[in-house]
Amino acid sequence: MLQTELGDITKINDVEAIVNAANKSLMGGGGVDGAIHRAAGPELLEETKKLGGCETGDAKISRGYNLPVDHVIHTVGPIWNGGNSEEAALLARCYRRSLEVAMDNGIKKIAFPSISTGVYHFPVDQAASIAVDEVRKVISEQPEAFELIKWILFDEETKAAYDAALNE
Ligand code: ADP
Repeated sequence: MLQTELGDITKINDVEAIVNAANKSLMGGGGVDGAIHRAAGPELLEETKKLGGCETGDAKISRGYNLPVDHVIHTVGPIWNGGNSEEAALLARCYRRSLEVAMDNGIKKIAFPSISTGVYHFPVDQAASIAVDEVRKVISEQPEAFELIKWILFDEETKAAYDAALNE
């Protein structure tokens, strides 16, 4: 049910939706956001332009276009600012809202990247532990909602952090 995998989230085809670590504009960007927009093709931007942006901690859904999955759930992680700016609560909210949007759309299999730990500089060990805790909370509240929730992690060090959090 909860898994980690090393890889490129744009190549995943065993889920119904992938989550994008987007920015508030939803106009694309670098990192995983850029990779998702490149793989999906220009129609994705045409759709996300119309979504009216997204607040930090919130999530919005689009189609997947040329991606191997039907949907992309765009969430905006907090930018790390030392830890006293609600970063932990906002990161937890990204996971909760992404899963709520998935449930609203009948999505039972979903893959997350490591939200906020790239250019947003959230410390990866803390991010992993917040991510796993919040996902477990949602699952305990909605035990029938999901069949598969996984993290697709781009490097060994990040994967090790999520594996450690899952083994806590
Ligand atoms: P943020 O702005 O939320 O920090 P980034 O895209 O900069 O988002 O980084 C988030 C994480 O996504 C980092 O661990 C980065 O290495 C990883 N990443 C980048 N490209 C991909 C990809 N194609 N698939 C999965 N993870 C990716």
